[in-house]
Parts: sequence; C-alpha cells; structure tokens
Amino acid sequence: MPIHPIDCVLAVTYNCNSRCTMCDIWKISGYPEMPPGQYAKLPDSLLDINISGGEPFLRKDLPEIISVVGRACPKARIVISSNGFATEMIMVQMKKIIAVKPDIGVAISIDGIGEMHDQMRGIPGGFDKAMSTVKGLQVMGIGNLRLGFTVTERNVKHLRRVYDLANEMGIQFTHSFAQSSEFYFGGKQNTEFQNLSDESMTEGMAVGVETPKEKTGPMGKLLNEQYCYLINSELRSWNVKRWLRAYFAFGMYNFITGKNPVLSNAPGRDFFFIDPGGIIYPSVVHNIKLGNFAEIENFMDFWNSPAMSENRKKIDNSKMPVWMICTARTAIKKHPFRVMWWVLKNKLSGFKM
Ligand code: SF4
Repeated sequence: MPIHPIDCVLAVTYNCNSRCTMCDIWKISGYPEMPPGQYAKLPDSLLDINISGGEPFLRKDLPEIISVVGRACPKARIVISSNGFATEMIMVQMKKIIAVKPDIGVAISIDGIGEMHDQMRGIPGGFDKAMSTVKGLQVMGIGNLRLGFTVTERNVKHLRRVYDLANEMGIQFTHSFAQSSEFYFGGKQNTEFQNLSDESMTEGMAVGVETPKEKTGPMGKLLNEQYCYLINSELRSWNVKRWLRAYFAFGMYNFITGKNPVLSNAPGRDFFFIDPGGIIYPSVVHNIKLGNFAEIENFMDFWNSPAMSENRKKIDNSKMPVWMICTARTAIKKHPFRVMWWVLKNKLSGFKM
C-alpha cells in the first residue's frame, strides 16, 4: 500500500523580524528560498499544511505561494503561522491571500500578556503589535484565527491567561513546546523543564486551583496547575474539537514532563517538514535529510521509494519522541476510540494529573 502524507509544515523563509529567546532563526541570513512554482509538486493527499518560517509574511511572494499550494492541495486546510509584528504589511498581504484562498487560517504567536510576551520575543511593545494584527485580522473576517503559545519555563505561568484571552476574543488557542533542533529553531538547544523541582518559578501561581497530587517541586506544580486548568476548561465544553484539544494538551503535558507518549505518531510517513531551500525532513526535530524537494519530479514516487524505506528505519531507530500539533493530529485521528474513551472518562470525573 502506498504511503500518503497528510500533514506538513512548509518553512518558506528563515528571515525573521523577531528576536525570540527560544529560537535562533532570526540570526540566519541569506538562506536559499524556493520559488513559488516549486510548491506545485506537493502531493494532493495533504489535509493540513502549516506555512511557517521565519516570518512567512516577509516573503513578498507569499500570496503566490499560497495560491500554488492551494491549487496543488485542494483538500488541505492551510494555516500561516506569524509573529504578527509587521501589522501593516500583514494586512496588505492578507488582502491578496484571501482573494486566492478565502478560508486561509492565521495563527499569531502570543507567549504571554504584555511584558512577558515582549521579553519572550525580544521586541519592546511586541504584545501590542501582535494584538493589533489579531484585531485587524478579526475585522478582516478571518474565521480561522488562532493565538499560538510556545511553552517555556519562563512563560508557563501565563499559559492559562493567554488561553483565557483567546476564549474572550472568540478565537482558537494552540500551543507548542520550545524544543531543541539541530537544524530548525536556528539550531537552538532549549533545555526547558529538565528540573521540575526548580524553586525559581513560583511567582504567578494561581490560588485556589485544584492541583495534582504529584510530588514535584514548584515548577512541576506550576506546570500541572496550568495544564489542569486548560484541559478541564476544554473538557467542560460541548464541542468535539475542544475535547480533542484537551487530549492534545494532555499529550503535551506528558511530553514536556518526559512521560511515555500518549500515542505514537508517524513523522516521515504521515508528516514531513520542508525547509525554505527545499530540504525535506521527517519533522522539525528529526535531523534526517530525506531529499531535496527542488530535485524531485513526482513527490509520491519519492515518498514510496526504496530510499524512503531505508530512511524510515533510521527514523524509527532514532526513537526521538515528538508531540506537535502537526504530528499529533494524525495520531489522534487514527485512534478515535482510545481518545474518546479518555475524553468521556475525564469529562465525567474531572481531569487530574
Ligand atoms: S520562533 Fe518564530 S518568530 Fe521567533 S525567531 Fe523563530 S522563526 Fe522568528
């Protein structure tokens, strides 16, 4: 049976106008970028595509890229991830993009409220700039709009605050974890949550929130408290999508705390990552070069080639855990009964770590 990829991340540039603490992409300059026409070779089996960077809106030809990707993958939901700092430019680009892809989604990074976000992103006034973009996109009528939160030790105490902000604004909330990568995040090595007994991060813990009984230090309790709040809030809703987000958050908590993965996922099978120059990887953390997109004639022939079978052995042997929305989404879809059983059990009894 041929393997059909269904999810991917396309980093279309490594140029970036942010100065994030958890990523060094902004230090890269002159990295090659594929011309828009190359993306016509993407497989039409894709159902979810994240356009990432760097800052994707810095590419002047982004509307053309979206147009090509949309035509190549007509069944795919496409979401652009942006830091939201260049409000005016984003609005100009988005007007062109919705003309070719009206159902486009946008995720704007918000890593904390006010000063916290500014510190995380290294941009004074960054929170206000990013929120101006979010509000501008709301006015523009972008229905699939999200706040994206990157979890680190420094900002985890703001997780529920940003989650609440997204709910108050009537937009979606997504989150990811600041991981290390030898080739993505500018090669940044993040060492987040390696010591959950760290005493230094207790400031900001909410009072009166039910916390798990796990005997961890203040950092572990803070992490538990934030995730219990988020997961229980999602489970209390009567919306299946939000229940699945609760499960994703449960998987993320397990991943961050080094527990066994809640589900196995399949980088290099269901999922791939392409860097701006066209190098294909199994995910943003698996440093295994699968091929060069610019040199491939037919993606499905490449994806089902003997060379890819050999590469999949390397991926499996690496035993590198990964839990990101792009890889988790496909795993959740493949295990509907297991996930719904977890939802039912925890919705009825209230989720506790
Ligand atoms: S995390 Fe995103 S916004 Fe921040 S430097 Fe990296 S690519 Fe740029």
